[in-house]
Amino acid sequence: MPGFEVIGEEEKQAVVDIFDRSNGVLFYRGFDERRNHIFRVLDFEAAFAQRIGARYAQAVTSGTAALKVALKALGIGPGDEVITQAFTFVATVEAILDTGATPIVVDVDDTLNMDPDALRAAITPRTKAVIPVHMMHTAAAMDAILPIAQEHGLFIVEDTAQACGATYQGKTLGTWGHLGCFSFDFGKTITTGEGGMVVTDDEELFRLARSYHNHGHAFLPGVPPGEEPGIMPGFNFRMTELQAAVGLAQLKKLDFILARQRANKAMMKAFLEPEAEALGIRFRRVLNPDGEGGDTLVFFTGSRERARAVARHMAQHGVGTKLLPGAERWHFAGYWEWIFRDHPLYAEDWSTRWAASARWLEQAVALPVMVLDEPKDIERKMRVVLDALRATA
Ligand SMILES: *Cc1c(COP(=O)(O)O)cnc(C)c1O
Repeated sequence: MPGFEVIGEEEKQAVVDIFDRSNGVLFYRGFDERRNHIFRVLDFEAAFAQRIGARYAQAVTSGTAALKVALKALGIGPGDEVITQAFTFVATVEAILDTGATPIVVDVDDTLNMDPDALRAAITPRTKAVIPVHMMHTAAAMDAILPIAQEHGLFIVEDTAQACGATYQGKTLGTWGHLGCFSFDFGKTITTGEGGMVVTDDEELFRLARSYHNHGHAFLPGVPPGEEPGIMPGFNFRMTELQAAVGLAQLKKLDFILARQRANKAMMKAFLEPEAEALGIRFRRVLNPDGEGGDTLVFFTGSRERARAVARHMAQHGVGTKLLPGAERWHFAGYWEWIFRDHPLYAEDWSTRWAASARWLEQAVALPVMVLDEPKDIERKMRVVLDALRATA
């Protein structure tokens, strides 16, 4: 599935290097002589920006921090509404709440990404931004979302936490909107243990993001740390040299990870596709089949009961599913009682509000695609999936 499968000697050497060559300077700036002018966070930002095709990148402590920093750079706060989707990791909504803005959570469709019609219907005069989430390495309908946002003067922040390196219509995800947010937690495409990145082409947004992530210090290259003026109330979301060193090593493996995932997903799909109709399944609609990262194969089984039976059969034969249907708790807003029970907008109906999303999610089975699986591993797992589907057809 992700970077943790291929973490090893290169990452280890990169960390040792921080002690051997940077003399153990773990902070992202200052101590220039002592660190032999080695700056891994700055290197990681530059390399990441280049790989993604963005002008600027700001390293932060997590994907959740990336979302918060992006929203703060846009000046979003109390009284503003930010639209996102019901199928996402809870962090997207947490970041909106943490700015004091109101999350407006809309349905996903059979892409399992934001339904552009639901976005349009949710826009009010208070809407400031939309956060489409590219779930499980596939693109949200950016070609539909972009004109809607432009028509209403909304900012777009892409939650690209699950889609590092994927493209849509030839353009890398994370570069369609004003800002793109990435996560490097241990389950993501590339990992630094914990970590994140905000990318943008907008110099002013970058300046504000860089400032906010570092207690509001003005970003003035050349001025010693601590001597800059403050320009805004900020916070500390700084990445360490250790994370960045690992990140640089992982980034070099991104294209290998994507190539292997795409090939393995195609191989997995080939087991089911010829029989899809007879098996009574339908694949998730993927808008960017050539550009997706391919970390998950999702199909709809027709009912919640059948999806659960398939997952159960697979578990009994030692094959795991991902997120759906059993692990929805942290990824579907319809389960987030602890988030919504006291929220004036959601307290009444959070458990039934996103019926359209629930209908797709409940009948979905999600198969994780492993980077290092060999054809014989895939065949063994897919035979189990086929058996499970035949047994429940
Ligand atoms: C993982 C994830 C995040 C949060 O990233 P962290 O680095 O774990 O804080 C945000 N959004 C989505 C869709 C994610 O999958």
